Amino acid sequence: MSAPVRTRPIVTIDGPAGSGKTTVSKRLAERAGLLRLDTGATYRACALAARRAGISWDDGPKLGTLCAGLDLAFRREGGELRVIMAGEDVSAAIRVPDMGMGASDVSRHPQVREALVALQRRMGADGGVVLEGRDTGTVVFPDAEVKFFLDAAAAVRARRRFLEWKSEAPPFEDVLRDVLRRDIQDSTRDHSPLRMAEGAVYIDSTTMTIDEVVDAMMEML
Ligand code: C5P
Repeated sequence: MSAPVRTRPIVTIDGPAGSGKTTVSKRLAERAGLLRLDTGATYRACALAARRAGISWDDGPKLGTLCAGLDLAFRREGGELRVIMAGEDVSAAIRVPDMGMGASDVSRHPQVREALVALQRRMGADGGVVLEGRDTGTVVFPDAEVKFFLDAAAAVRARRRFLEWKSEAPPFEDVLRDVLRRDIQDSTRDHSPLRMAEGAVYIDSTTMTIDEVVDAMMEML
């Protein structure tokens, strides 16, 4: 039996922390009329659910079971993507630095990846979506119509994160250390390490504005 033909495209954007995926995918989704699917949010939600259930971020088997039963949905509200877990809006709770590290920790476990990739595939199956994450073009939808790999120098990525958190930001040195630590953890893990997908377009945003990046992507689309 042949695979069903999608009438609307799947676009993937992968890249390291702070490369601009979130901002860029938001603008791209608006301009191209696509739904945005933030796969990092699913790992963050898993970390939060585990913390609340008293499950260690090191316990792969228990985390896998937890993720397989995770009641997670994305809701668009006033142009913003809200993350709803078991009926509760956890969008703010998963955005804190601790949950970023927790997401990186839980995402190392194959049991977690298997459950959350299945969830992401269900959410994007009909097309008309832009997915952002670390493995959306390599693992989640390797057959996506358009794939991008967004990158930037580590110091620039740390600075973007630092400015994003405004008055709540930890010292810059801590943000940079966190970015570098996550880079290593995300690109050296055994399962679905961060790497460029076959056929992906590489964009280095170190000296580009958001609009320039989005313009370049729109041209590809
Ligand atoms: O993009 P965001 O900062 O929300 O991702 C949090 C963490 O989730 C990343 O550092 C990474 O370890 C993990 N992640 C992943 N695969 C994805 C998206 C995120 O492993 N597709």
